[in-house]
Amino acid sequence: EYAETPLSVKGLRKTYGKFVAVDEISFTVERGQVVGLLGPNGAGKTTSLRVLMGLTQATAGDVLIFGHKLAPGAPVLSRIGALVEGPGFLPHLTGEQNLRAYWRATGRPWEDAQFTEALAIAGLGDAIHRRVKTYSHGMKQRLAVAQAMLGLPELLVLDEPTDGLDPPQIAEMRRVLQRYAVDGRAVLVSSHLLAEVEQTCTHAVVVHKGRVVASGRVDEIVGDTPTTQFEVNDL
Ligand code: ATP
Repeated sequence: EYAETPLSVKGLRKTYGKFVAVDEISFTVERGQVVGLLGPNGAGKTTSLRVLMGLTQATAGDVLIFGHKLAPGAPVLSRIGALVEGPGFLPHLTGEQNLRAYWRATGRPWEDAQFTEALAIAGLGDAIHRRVKTYSHGMKQRLAVAQAMLGLPELLVLDEPTDGLDPPQIAEMRRVLQRYAVDGRAVLVSSHLLAEVEQTCTHAVVVHKGRVVASGRVDEIVGDTPTTQFEVNDL
C-alpha cells in the first residue's frame, strides 16, 4: 500500500451551468513531492482542491487517493490533511486549545508524538500556548497549516496558505512545507505566485482558464511558462 500514488487526478471537469471552471485537468502527486497548483485568480485551483477533498462533486473525471476512487464520505479522506476553507479559530483560546478542540471533533485519538512533530514542522514554538488573538496573520496561517498536519497525514492539501503574507512569512511557510514532505509524505499547494512555486515546490501544475498549460518538475517548466499569463491578473 505504501507504493500507492497519494493523489491521481484524471480528466477532472467541473461546470457551473454553461461555465467550465475546471476543464479536463489531470496530474499526480507522488510521495516526497511538493506540487504547486499554479495559476491566476479564477484559474480553477480552489474548485479543483474542493473536488478532490470531496467538498463538491466533479462533473466528470476521477480522483484516486492512494489508489482508491474518491466517493462521498470515503474513509481514505482521513489520510489527507487539508486547509481549503479558512478555519475559524477561537481568539480567546490558545493555539493548542484550538487544535485540541478541532481534533476532538474528528473523533480520532489524540497522539502527543504527532502533535509535537506537527508543531515542530509548523515552527510555532511557544506561541502555541498564547491566545490566538495575539497571533500575527502569518502565525494564524501556520496554525491553520499545523491543524491540517495534526495527524501527520500522508497527503497535505493547502489552498493558498501564503495568501496575505509578507515575504518573511512566505519564506517561513516555504520551510514548513519543505520540512513536511519527507518520510513518504506529499504536499499539494495552490498559489498564484510563480516565484513562490519556483522556490517552494519540486513540481508544478500550471492551470489557466481551467486547463493545464504546463506540468512537470519545477526546474524543467518554469523557464517555459509565459509569465504574462500571471501579470495580467495578479502580479
Ligand atoms: P482564486 O485564487 O480566486 O480562488 P481559483 O483558481 O482558485 O482562483 P476558482 O475559485 O476555482 O479559481 O474559480 C474558477 C472559476 O469558477 C471562477 O471563474 C469562478 O468565478 C468560478 N466559480 C467558482 N465557484 C463557482 C460557483 N459556485 N458557481 C459559479 N461559478 C463558480
